[in-house]
Amino acid sequence: MMDIMTPQESLEKLRRGNARFMEDRSAHPRQDSARRELLTSGQKPSAVVLACSDSRVPVEIIFDQGIGDVFVIRTAGEITDLSVLASLEFAVTGLGVPLVVVLGHESCGAVKAAHHALETGELPPGFQRVLVEKVTPSLLASRAHGGRTTDDFERTHVEEIANHIVDRSPQILEGVRDGSCGVVGMRYRLSDGLTEPVVTYGVDIEGLDRQPV
Ligand SMILES: [Zn+2]
Repeated sequence: MMDIMTPQESLEKLRRGNARFMEDRSAHPRQDSARRELLTSGQKPSAVVLACSDSRVPVEIIFDQGIGDVFVIRTAGEITDLSVLASLEFAVTGLGVPLVVVLGHESCGAVKAAHHALETGELPPGFQRVLVEKVTPSLLASRAHGGRTTDDFERTHVEEIANHIVDRSPQILEGVRDGSCGVVGMRYRLSDGLTEPVVTYGVDIEGLDRQPV
């Protein structure tokens, strides 16, 4: 089993993998039978990723990670509920994962649906309206800060979800405060494969200020 990483080391590991993926140099690491056998005794993932369920955002592939590397939670629009918060806390507190990543993306259907509802007043049928209810506050927050484009809405939505997680989970907040856990929001660009960072708690990313906690 691997040593525990710092939040910063965990982020660098993902960003190196994403760079390989972008440049068509994916290493497809740690995906063989030896790795499989090694992990039968337990897991020590280096990051937990809450991503959109969109089929174009396969987490292990875009970060070029292997078996046992990332604890992944996916919901449409990377929205949270109690089950998602429970899974995040299981990863951070239960497994000692040092980094939470919230991963949105370009051309997100959930963001598009919320935008459509906001513009037209029409809600989607059935439980899909939960998507709209959970994404709309992010669009309003984006607009309040001058956001106009879908790209702006997607970035603000990732930011809002990351803020919400730190806000709602005392365990994750405590981890950020004592330096054992970082929380980073990123937006994946379908076009070139880059996961662009939009918000950070507890880890350093060039061009972004760490959010105060
Ligand atoms: Zn999406």
